[in-house]
Amino acid sequence: MTDNILLQTSPLRNLAPQFDKVREEDFKPATLAAIEEARANIDAIIANPDDPTFENTIVAFETSMELLSSVTTLFYNQLTAAGTDGLQALAEEIGPIHANFSSDIILNDTLFARIKSVYDARASLTLSTEQKTLLEDTYKSFVRGGALLGDIKKAELRKINEAMSTLSPIFSNNVKKSSEAFELWIENEADLAGLPPSAVEGAKQEAIDKGQPAKWLFTLDYPSYGPFITYSSIRPLRYAIWKANSNKAFGDAYDNSETLLKIVNLRHQRAQILGYKTHADYVLERRMAQTPDTVMAFLTKLRDLYKVGALKDLEAIKKFASEDGIDDLKPWDVGYYSEKLREKMYAFSAEDFRPYFPLDKVLDGTFAHFSKLFGLKFTAANDLPVWHTDVTAYDVTDIQTGKFIGTLYADFYPRTGKKPGAWMTSYREQGLFHGKVECPVVAIVCNFTKPTKDKPSLLNHDEVLTLFHEMGHATHGLLAKGTYPSQTGTNVLWDFVELPSQLQENWLYESETLNSFAANYETGEKIPAELIQKLRNAKNFMSGWMGLRQMGMSILDMQWHTVDPSMISDIVAFEDEAMKGAALFPRYGGPLSVSFSHIFAGGYSAGYYSYKWAEVLDADAFEAFLEAGLYDKATAQRYRQEVLEKGGSEPPAVLYRNFRGRDADPNALLRREGLVGAAE
Ligand SMILES: [Zn+2]
Repeated sequence: MTDNILLQTSPLRNLAPQFDKVREEDFKPATLAAIEEARANIDAIIANPDDPTFENTIVAFETSMELLSSVTTLFYNQLTAAGTDGLQALAEEIGPIHANFSSDIILNDTLFARIKSVYDARASLTLSTEQKTLLEDTYKSFVRGGALLGDIKKAELRKINEAMSTLSPIFSNNVKKSSEAFELWIENEADLAGLPPSAVEGAKQEAIDKGQPAKWLFTLDYPSYGPFITYSSIRPLRYAIWKANSNKAFGDAYDNSETLLKIVNLRHQRAQILGYKTHADYVLERRMAQTPDTVMAFLTKLRDLYKVGALKDLEAIKKFASEDGIDDLKPWDVGYYSEKLREKMYAFSAEDFRPYFPLDKVLDGTFAHFSKLFGLKFTAANDLPVWHTDVTAYDVTDIQTGKFIGTLYADFYPRTGKKPGAWMTSYREQGLFHGKVECPVVAIVCNFTKPTKDKPSLLNHDEVLTLFHEMGHATHGLLAKGTYPSQTGTNVLWDFVELPSQLQENWLYESETLNSFAANYETGEKIPAELIQKLRNAKNFMSGWMGLRQMGMSILDMQWHTVDPSMISDIVAFEDEAMKGAALFPRYGGPLSVSFSHIFAGGYSAGYYSYKWAEVLDADAFEAFLEAGLYDKATAQRYRQEVLEKGGSEPPAVLYRNFRGRDADPNALLRREGLVGAAE
């Protein structure tokens, strides 16, 4: 029996992680031991004297890395949730160990021969749909990893994978460190002009935490940066914070230029070795969209549509700003004047909603919403250990059957070392674990405005959207059915994964949903009906502008991954060329690419388009609810059964058709954004 807690089976309910007992120094020995165990499991598959079968080879392989996967998910989740220098250093150390192990597996000829033998016999096997997909996916993952290559190419590929594994953590760490290096200290109260009280209080708290109670501190963390760039009426200060934000990881000690070029070159080399023209071709083979041409056609069509709207948006803002004496509108003015214009046109501010959205009420309302749709019950599980005092654990049960379906953790507030942004993650997927089908363990992690001494955490409407979004992912994980963890929950093709999350955001523009939980934290009053109407009217405000920006970033991602990058040395010039059809200003700041963590440190390379792709799906899926009723039981049930429960066990196009009775109608998105009329 080992005394390393990470290597022990948890005695807790649903085998929940023992966060209270995990020590940083346990991760490395646990990883090494778990890799040894996985190697032994794989050796046993190879040494099996029986002929290869689906059970003794494919299922045995699927379950061979259970321990390693628990240790790894825990480690990477701790890294993003705590981000200590120790964990960061470990990430750089553990990355290559993992990469090497993966290469050993994927390039193991004897193992692949057994898998291939089952795959080649697939026509004669009696397999369920889920099993067929597992067989196909297992075989493909080996082929895509180089299993069909000769020895020299295999060795090259191994080197590339190892090198790549260290670069992503370096890239994201540079972005984080570069952001943290910037501090905007305000000493003079007059320099807070325009800022909403919540932003001022937050900045005061930051300053107090840093031992400077007489000042205010703003940072590049979104809850600090976002309100500042939107509301500060001091133009030079807006410029200062905008400039720091747009020069993140560029021209400073944390410059990502070299790392970025290494990443794109290695990706390209890998694609070429595997027989693909570019990294995008390699990636998109395993996407709903399938080819770079399909994606580029999708993006350029939308870019041109959005550009028409964006130019109108820009004209309107310029005209409005000129009334304020600004005749040379700059990028750091756009957020400010567009917010002022929105306030004028719709007579409300995003901040007006904060009093109605105290986090505890919002959370109750969120759970009630998911309960109404899918019949779920969320019960705080205060007996389960968590990774930080801000975190709460929940037991999730199905109300109708009374069955326990999974464990959910929620981690809501920013803190030093925690990665900015919001995400959902899994500690364990639904499916086989130690020979039994176990329920999932998932988490949602956000960076919401913190409560202060006198005020609870009050969210703005965007933050409530974020919560519904992440809970959409979480329910995808929690409602999963199925036996094989690699096929359940959010393990779907990337351009399908944002459907369940984005779909949920639609309800937050509906009075029925908002009225079910939003109430003024002091008076208990509901949101006035006119304010909800204004929110709905304002929803498409700047939709051209924002759509164009998103298309620009998506095209930039595709450009990085559809060219031979060996000739690129000037990142700025490359980016300008890639984004020229989507840029409405000349360049003032550093390149976006060097802090574009989604594509250089996350899983979104040649995949940023998938947000918009999924929007087409979610707009069309929501129309099903608009047609049948917002909480129509049959529609919700069909969606739950055909999409959420199925995970990646069937191609997404098939799942979608089973839910909707047809393919998604792209005009549903354009209708929602007001870019085409309802009749078109
Ligand atoms: Zn998402």
